[in-house]
Formats: sequence, structure tokens, C-alpha cells
Amino acid sequence: MKVMKFGGTSVGKPERMHQVAELITADAEPKIVVLSALSGTTNALVGISESIANGKRDEAKRKIDELEAHYRSFVLSLVQGESLREKANAIVSEHFEFLNIILRISFSEALNKDILAQGELMSTKLFSVYLEEKGIDHLLLPALEFMTIDVNDEPNLPVITTKLNHLLKQHSNKKLFITQGYICRNARGEVDNLKRGGSDYTASLVAAAAHATVCEIWTDIDGMHNNDPRVVNKTLPIEQLSFDEAAELAYFGAKILHPTCIWPAQLNNVPVKLLNTMEPKAKGTTIQASAGTVGVKAVAAKDGIIAIKIKSSRMLLAYGFLRKVFEVFEKYRTPIDMITTSEVAVSVTIDTDAHLDQIIKELEPFGTVEVLKDQSIVSIVGNEIAETKDVLKRLFDALSPVPVTMVSYGGSAHNISLLVPSSYKTQTLQLLNAGIFGL
Ligand code: ADP
Ligand code: ASP
Ligand code: MG
Repeated sequence: MKVMKFGGTSVGKPERMHQVAELITADAEPKIVVLSALSGTTNALVGISESIANGKRDEAKRKIDELEAHYRSFVLSLVQGESLREKANAIVSEHFEFLNIILRISFSEALNKDILAQGELMSTKLFSVYLEEKGIDHLLLPALEFMTIDVNDEPNLPVITTKLNHLLKQHSNKKLFITQGYICRNARGEVDNLKRGGSDYTASLVAAAAHATVCEIWTDIDGMHNNDPRVVNKTLPIEQLSFDEAAELAYFGAKILHPTCIWPAQLNNVPVKLLNTMEPKAKGTTIQASAGTVGVKAVAAKDGIIAIKIKSSRMLLAYGFLRKVFEVFEKYRTPIDMITTSEVAVSVTIDTDAHLDQIIKELEPFGTVEVLKDQSIVSIVGNEIAETKDVLKRLFDALSPVPVTMVSYGGSAHNISLLVPSSYKTQTLQLLNAGIFGL
């Protein structure tokens, strides 16, 4: 069994969907195909939801109509036969009627999740109609029947595995399954999602659950690049990454992958391939247990970081101080990304201000608390980085114009992290491209 996931741009135009149908029928291996919503749809649904939440129903109605018009013209080019085009239009009607009904009822978080789920539901159903037109035998597997998250909103892999394999067994005569990325059911049984970009996570969870031979993530670029192509002009694809390297890059901002999507594949040792729908012959990136070469492979940046520094002379020679500090973050379920300590101070970074005020209040009895907002973590990721000749020298030579706020080195053999003011992020990534990769 092979898992193939296609992102928004890969299904965003009717001709792209046609191409996806070719890619998934190129060989005879049984497949589970995970689809995102058409590009732009989830953003549009977020906009509709916000308008409804703000009581701007006329604005929401306008946005719904605009999105519906987009789907009507999409269907025109997707399907040619009259009866199947009618079927596709009926699917569009069903989902837009639902959105129009929502306009009339009072808004809630559960309703918001229902709105956000419409994109993946429509893309998979429309794709299924196209496969029907092409005479390609397949089965639509509803993700809401097997994809679950627990009370902490974390995917529940054992439950997913049992449910998915039960469904696959029920349809053991089928070779091609289509399912929705991103959407799931939460512990209360409501429709929920795996957060933005979550279709990658679905693919990895499905691949782990089905013990797939490979999890292919098809997108609009030929693999993981050494630097952020949205920010830096000259970037190159990386042929091979270890699971750990890929997980660090995803977590620290390489948008090509959902931040936490690597662990399920890693757990069951399923190789992950990043491939380009527009250039299917390109090598892409293979992510597996072994890293391949030694050395720095890529840099990535994560924005919206807050640094918190706690200064206290009581920390001097004291044990138990760090535990007390960490307990505050644990209490507010706020993960710490970077840590640096000196004898009288500890600095940590977090990526959310959801509980910032309470955290600061509880830290204040320990010493002076300073907060620095609008920071970015820049991560330099590779294999046995310390073995790269002069790596620190090259790093700091390159970054001499940048006021680096924090440095974390030695925590793992495959990561050096720097904190810089977000206003310096672009310059930092550009300087590292020249200084570390010679590009
Ligand atoms: P999809 O809709 O297929 O899920 P995404 O937009 O989520 O696609 O991810 C692909 C995009 O990720 C690329 O178009 C690229 O701009 C961006 N990206 C950011 N950092 C990297 C990187 N290091 N390597 C490759 N792509 C990256
Ligand atoms: N459609 C969802 C999003 O745009 C999930 C995904 O594409 O991965 O975030
Ligand atoms: Mg994505």
C-alpha cells in the first residue's frame, strides 16, 4: 500500500486534478490518496467564518457566493459528461446550501470547524466524480470515520490504525482509496481539523496506520529546499534527509511540511517523499531513517516568537530553580522551543501569547522578567553539524550585521538555532545562503 497526498495547488485547477488522476494510476500498487482542499478554499472558508463570527452576515454571504461561483466554473472544466456534471453540481449545491444555512444560525467554535471542513469534503467528492468519468475504479473513504484526535487535540494513532484497517478490510477488493486530508473528529465526536497545513499530517498518520511502503507528499516544488524559496532567491532541493532533520525543518518553519507531520511515518519507519506535481520526474526529497551525508543541509525560520528572560540572583548555585520555571510553562500547556541559561538568568522562547500574561505573573516571584516580542527562530539543520568544518565561524562571520538575540547549540547533533528580531529574518536567511551554502 502506498499513500499519495496532493496539496492545494496540485488539485487547485481542473487540469491539475486530471493530472493527479494520471499520477495515481501510473502503477498497479494499491493506494490511499489524500487530498487537500482546492488552493485558496480554506483561506476563503476562514474568511467566511470570521465574517459570521463578527456578525457581518452580508459580507459572509458575498464571500460564500464568490466561492460558489469558483466551484461552478471548476466543475465545467473538470467533468464533460452531462449526467456526471450534474452530479458534481449537486455536490457543490449540497455544500453551499450547508454554508448558507449556517449563515442563519448562531456561531460557535464547533460550527467554525464544520465550515473549515467543507473544502476537503468538496475536493475529494469532485475528484471522485472525475475518476468515475474516467472509469477508474475507486472508493471514497470518509476521513471522519477513522481520523480522530484526543482530548489534547493530538491524533490518536492506535484508534486511527484500528478504524482505518477495519475499513480497508471491509473493502479488500478495492485498490484505490480517496480520502480527505486535514479533517478529523475530536474527542467529543465533533468535526475538527489537524490545523492549517494538516493534510500532510493526515498522510503521515494514514501511512503509519496502513504500514505503507511510502508516503508521497505531492506539492508545487521539487522537494525540501536548503532555504525558504519565498524569501531567498537561489535555493536548491535536498535529495535526502533523516526523519529527525525533516522534523526539525518542518517544526522550525519549512512550510512545505506541516510542523509535526513526521513522527507517525518515523514511528513505523515509512519513508516520506516530497515530490512536485508540476514536474513529476524531478527527484524530490527522500526522508528516511538515515541522513545520507554529514553536514549542514538547510535553514528555516519560524516567526511569531516571544523570548522571556528571568533574571535572579537566587538562581546562583540553586538547584530546583529551572524546575519551578518550567512548571509554569507546563501549567499553561505552552511548549518551550529554545532555552539558554547563565548562572543568574534563564531565557526561553515560546510561539504563542495565549497565556503570556498569566505566565509572566507566575514567573515574577522568581526574579526580574523581561519579554521580547516579534522574534524569529532561524534553525540551521543537518547531520552531525559540529563535524562541518568551521561551522560556527562561518555562521557568525556571515551574520555579523545581525543582532542575534539568543543562540542554542549542542542540544542535538542536527540543529543550531538562533533567535533574531523578525525584522532581520530575511537578511539572516540571505546571509546564511551565501555564508553557509555559498549560493
Ligand atoms: P501544499 O498546498 O501542496 O501543501 P504548501 O504551500 O503547504 O503546499 O507547501 C509548499 C510551499 O512551501 C512551496 O511552494 C514553498 O514556497 C514553501 N516552502 C517554504 N520553505 C520551503 C523549503 N525549505 N523547501 C521547499 N518549499 C518551501
Ligand atoms: N486545506 C488545509 C489548509 O489549507 C489543509 C492543507 O491544505 O494541508 O490548511
Ligand atoms: Mg501544505
